[in-house]
Amino acid sequence: MEVIRGIAASPGIVVGKALLLGAAETHVPRRTISPQKVEAEQARFRQAVTQAIADLGELRRTTESQLGAETAKIFAFHEGLLQDPTLLQPILSVIASQRLNAEAAVTEQFGRLIEQFRAMRSDVFEQKVDDLIDLQRRVLGKLMGEEEDRLANLTEPAIIIAHELTPSQAAAVGHGKALAFVTESGGLTGHVSIVFRALGLPAVVGCQRATIDVQDGDEVIVDGDTGVMIVRPDAAAREECLQRGEKAKKLRVSLAENASLEAITTDGTRIQLLGNIEFPEEVEAVLRNGGDGVGLYRTEFLFLTSDTAPDEEAQYQAYRKTIELLDGRPCTIRTLDLGADKWTQATLQEPERNPFLGLRSIRFSLQNQPMFKTQLRAILRASAHGPMHLMFPLVSTLMELRQARLILRDVMEELDEEGIPHDRRPKVGIMIEVPSAALMARTFAAEADFFSIGTNDLVQYTLAVDRGNERVASLYTAASPAVLQLVKNVIRAGRHAGIDASLCGEIAGDPVFTMLLLGMGLRTLSMVPAQIPVVKRVVRTVDIGLCERLARRVGSFDSERQIHTTLRDELRKLDPANFGGWAAA
Ligand code: PEP
Ligand code: MG
Repeated sequence: MEVIRGIAASPGIVVGKALLLGAAETHVPRRTISPQKVEAEQARFRQAVTQAIADLGELRRTTESQLGAETAKIFAFHEGLLQDPTLLQPILSVIASQRLNAEAAVTEQFGRLIEQFRAMRSDVFEQKVDDLIDLQRRVLGKLMGEEEDRLANLTEPAIIIAHELTPSQAAAVGHGKALAFVTESGGLTGHVSIVFRALGLPAVVGCQRATIDVQDGDEVIVDGDTGVMIVRPDAAAREECLQRGEKAKKLRVSLAENASLEAITTDGTRIQLLGNIEFPEEVEAVLRNGGDGVGLYRTEFLFLTSDTAPDEEAQYQAYRKTIELLDGRPCTIRTLDLGADKWTQATLQEPERNPFLGLRSIRFSLQNQPMFKTQLRAILRASAHGPMHLMFPLVSTLMELRQARLILRDVMEELDEEGIPHDRRPKVGIMIEVPSAALMARTFAAEADFFSIGTNDLVQYTLAVDRGNERVASLYTAASPAVLQLVKNVIRAGRHAGIDASLCGEIAGDPVFTMLLLGMGLRTLSMVPAQIPVVKRVVRTVDIGLCERLARRVGSFDSERQIHTTLRDELRKLDPANFGGWAAA
């Protein structure tokens, strides 16, 4: 039995069989294989090379008939390279001597050759580098495609273990195939963790060595409540985990019974609890959990689950469905937040060096106006079917907001000319998730109809801590005096200008933060639907005066730890039986 600690990314405890998965393209799986598996691994590699050669032969023949023999020569050259023992033999040796899986051995050997060729600094060798990269992709594609097939052929759901998964891969695996997820990389608020929670499956991220210490088919326990994975558990550990899982489930059931009650504090203050969704189908979960509407619809997930950009009609149908399912309740649709860890990197020839500081969110939309306009048309058309607020993500300068609004106006005019109905005065808000916007909130408040504070990104950009990097996960916390000051600034600016300020980062759904957020003046919180019942329980247990005193006290603290400990203590004091588990995490 082995216990591996990581970060609790999505609650729940399950026991199941492991399936190791390489995340295609972005990451090459690397694992140690047992001596008995060396031959089989070498055979896998040979098989992949044979298949790649067959594909190249096919390509050569079609290219020859369509474009002529000269153009087809390149494929003949590649076929030759893939049959060259000086390329293949070292890979077979690495598999045997280092007991490495084929994907990792291929990457090592190709990487070595590419470096040698690059060091020659000549155009001829530069050309060869391109050939090698192409061939490496081809062979890896065969090896990793096999893994996708394994997933497709799974007969019973498994615990998916990977070095890294992109949000789209996680969404594609989804229910039915996965019991739980464990990844070596990632942090609590990374987008893939958000998908795990949206799927409602337990997950532990930042679990280092997971793909090395676990073998395919091993029994593992994933404890998404405490962030632990137990490999090959003994009977006592299995029993203990199952019991805890049962208890947690009971608590959730008891909380869910409160769903239909109002989110109102003991002194009568009404709090609006909304759901964050990625797909229209999640509206059902928002309502079942007692949510008042949708505070954040992450529309980019429409793009993440498809290889091609969905057209206007497909988007319109999704937005309209969401609005209709909400049946008059509020719905805030966020325009595409593509970039960073979502979609665009996979479509780029050369990924950005610093994608989180790169062409992301509103910046991406403003530079891809046809795509942006298509989305705005679809959203506006859907607005004819019920209440809708529009929100731009990651706004960092006033110019971006102005430009986005101008484009929105153009699109509205177009629709008017075409006689297409839409809301003529939609509320247009911005997400505040960059320090520049938080600091300049008063200025933004003059031109935005509402603010939605995105602490997931605000924490990352304020503290300079990548939200998806497990190595710095311990530095990533919203219980930071700097972050809280920025949040306070935004709430004040909103109040001063008479516009709504709400919060939709993950802390909105963390009961540890509820009292603080209410005490700071927030009256609308938007969260992962499954967290609505527990936050509602906290809301119904507190009075605003108590929350305000706590917020004032916490506002004078200068350390993250002091803030976090105080918030947990206060939550525990409130109701040890119900909140003890959350307060202990
Ligand atoms: C945020 O940054 O807090 C947020 C809600 O947006 P996302 O998690 O989609 O980046
Ligand atoms: Mg964000």
